[in-house]
Amino acid sequence: MAKRDYYEILGVNKNAAEDEIKKAYRKLAIKYHPDKNPDDKAAEEKFKEAAEAYEVLSNAEKRQRYDQFGHAGVGGNAGGGYGGGMNMDDIFSQFGDIFGGAFGGFGGGGGSRGGRRVNRGSNLRIKVKLNLSEIANGVEKKLKVNKQVSCHTCGGSGAKNGQYDTCRVCNGTGVHTRVQQTILGAMQTQTTCSSCHGEGRIVKDKCNTCHGDGIVRGEEVITINIPAGVADGMQLSMSGKGNAAPRGGINGDLLILVEEEEHPELKREGSHLIYNLHISIPDAILGKQVEIPTIDSKAKIKVEPGTQSGKVLRLKGKGLPDVNSYGRGDLLVEINVYTPTSLNADEKKIMEQLQQSKNFQPNPSKREKGFFDRMKEYFD
Ligand SMILES: [Zn+2]
Ligand SMILES: [Zn+2]
Repeated sequence: MAKRDYYEILGVNKNAAEDEIKKAYRKLAIKYHPDKNPDDKAAEEKFKEAAEAYEVLSNAEKRQRYDQFGHAGVGGNAGGGYGGGMNMDDIFSQFGDIFGGAFGGFGGGGGSRGGRRVNRGSNLRIKVKLNLSEIANGVEKKLKVNKQVSCHTCGGSGAKNGQYDTCRVCNGTGVHTRVQQTILGAMQTQTTCSSCHGEGRIVKDKCNTCHGDGIVRGEEVITINIPAGVADGMQLSMSGKGNAAPRGGINGDLLILVEEEEHPELKREGSHLIYNLHISIPDAILGKQVEIPTIDSKAKIKVEPGTQSGKVLRLKGKGLPDVNSYGRGDLLVEINVYTPTSLNADEKKIMEQLQQSKNFQPNPSKREKGFFDRMKEYFD
């Protein structure tokens, strides 16, 4: 199913300011909040959709990637295999920034979450090198990633027996609440509990392996589905595949930077490929069938008799797929006529005869267009 445009979801325009985006999301989050719409699947979907849109558009880096590459740039490509979307814990953990402490009782959604802070693992960046064939077809890569993983000894809890004490400083709420009298009435302010760092609980008996963190250095083999048509410098993201969070929080994201290996013969220009074909003077005059490289194999093309240097043949659809649409680029074959640099006596004699021939004088009406005109034609 195709995803809706993030700007459309939030009902803001493309150059909306940060504040405007926040406001729009806040409105939707309240409208579709599960506490207000119990057992309403459609509302839940809208709630999640809005959260995902906000997650991307509220982050300058992600927003820029989204503007440039669409959903594929932020890992939300339909069919790309990233799962996309956010889970409810992600969404609620986001609320701290948007609603501050003021969300209070409204944000509970089950009570266990309360005002407590959910730990979040950091994002992890890796590079992946791709050749032209992998880019053209899309590829599944299995990569061994060195990262913070959940501790096996304690199951990620950080505690020997999985047991916690309720933080006595904040009584398990994770926050200090202060009520102040102001001219507008009583105002509540909340700050994170410094004793438990907002978790509301303290590890009773620290695990010996992870010393209470719940995470250790480890390796994970991650399967990454790279969609066809990506380009050098693009960044994909996989939600939840980054570093594990301390004591069972939410994992960070895995950010995958695409590096493109240069093809020995084909040059890339967006979704088009360019091949420089060199032919001899007799072949240009008499015509010939020649073989040229394509992404995965070879193709035969016909050089017509009387072909001019600089002529471009277009092999439609033999280029790269576009990562954001259904289109596919072309393979452009630029023909160059090779001029020999050394001749024997016989050859020289023939050439001297031809030099006088009227047929060998350049005819302005039959010449190929100049370089810039040709480039304009193909890349505008
Ligand atoms: Zn442990
Ligand atoms: Zn505390």
